[in-house]
Amino acid sequence: MGLKEWDIEVITDLFNERDQALILGTPLSSRQEEDIRYWHKEGNSHYSVESAFRLIQELQGAWVSSVNSGFCRSLWNLKIPPKVKNFLWRVCSGYLPTKIALKMKHVPVSVICPLCNRYEETTLHCLVKCGFTQWCFKEVGVVTNVDNSTIFVGWLEMLMGQHTNSMISRIGMLLWSIWKVRNMVVWQDTYLHVDEVVRTIHLTLDQWIEAQEFFFVPSVNGLHTMDGKELWTKPDQQTIKINLDAALFDADNSFGYGFNARDHTSRLIDARAVCQRGRTSAELAEAIAFKEALSWIKVKQ
Ligand SMILES: [Zn+2]
Repeated sequence: MGLKEWDIEVITDLFNERDQALILGTPLSSRQEEDIRYWHKEGNSHYSVESAFRLIQELQGAWVSSVNSGFCRSLWNLKIPPKVKNFLWRVCSGYLPTKIALKMKHVPVSVICPLCNRYEETTLHCLVKCGFTQWCFKEVGVVTNVDNSTIFVGWLEMLMGQHTNSMISRIGMLLWSIWKVRNMVVWQDTYLHVDEVVRTIHLTLDQWIEAQEFFFVPSVNGLHTMDGKELWTKPDQQTIKINLDAALFDADNSFGYGFNARDHTSRLIDARAVCQRGRTSAELAEAIAFKEALSWIKVKQ
C-alpha cells in the first residue's frame, strides 16, 4: 500500500503463471490511491451473478451482442403469439434449460438429448441439429445449413436474412413446438410424429393471426356483425346470455372448456374455465361445457 508497485509475493502465491504475467504487465497508476475491487461488467462496479452468467454465456458463444440489436427488434416484430416471442428471446439469451445448461449449473442429469438419445443436448442440437428437428425443418421446407462453428443466434440471424417474415414466423413456431415436444418426451414420455408437429404449427399460427384480425368493439357497446363474421350481440333486457366453448389439446392429453355469462348491458356476471386430463371428442367436450353452464344456471336460480 502506498508503494506504487505490485506485491510480487502475494501475486506469486495466489495466481498461476499466466495470470501472474498479465498482472505484473499491467501498468500502475501514477496517482496514489487506495485499491478498490472493480467488476467491469456492471456500470456501478459491483459484482452481480447475472452479469457473470452473461459473461460465461458470451465466452461460450451462447450469447452474442446482436441480441440487443436490430435482430432482436425483428424478432419482437414478428406476427407470432407472445409466448413464442418470449421463448425465442429466452433461447437467444442463452436461458433455455437444455441438459447441457443444467449440467453446467451442477444439476445431476444425463446430458443426452431425449429426442434422439444419441448426442449431447445443447440449444443448437435440440432446436436445429437433432434428427427429429431436421425432419420437421424438411417438412416445413427450410434448409438449416449448420456446421461445427455454428451458434444458435447466428444461425437464426442468418435465416432471418434469407426468408420472409411469414416464413420466419413459422420457423419460430416450429422451434417453440420442438421444445414443447421435447418437454413432453421428458416429462410425459409422450412422442409426437413430425407430421403432427408441423400440422399443429400451421394451424396454431393461422388461427392466432385470424384472431388478431378479428374486429373487437369495447364491451360497453357490445359486438356487432361485420364483414359477414358471426359476432357477439347483447341479450334482451332482463336476460342473461351464456357463451361457452371447448378445446382439445391432444398433444398435452387434455381438454378444456369454459363459459361466461353477461347481462343486457354486456356486463360480465360470471366466468368459468376448466382444464381436464384425458382425451375426448369435441362433441363430448362441448356437452360437458353445456352441462357445467346449466349447473351454474340452476345454482343461480
Ligand atoms: Zn437429438
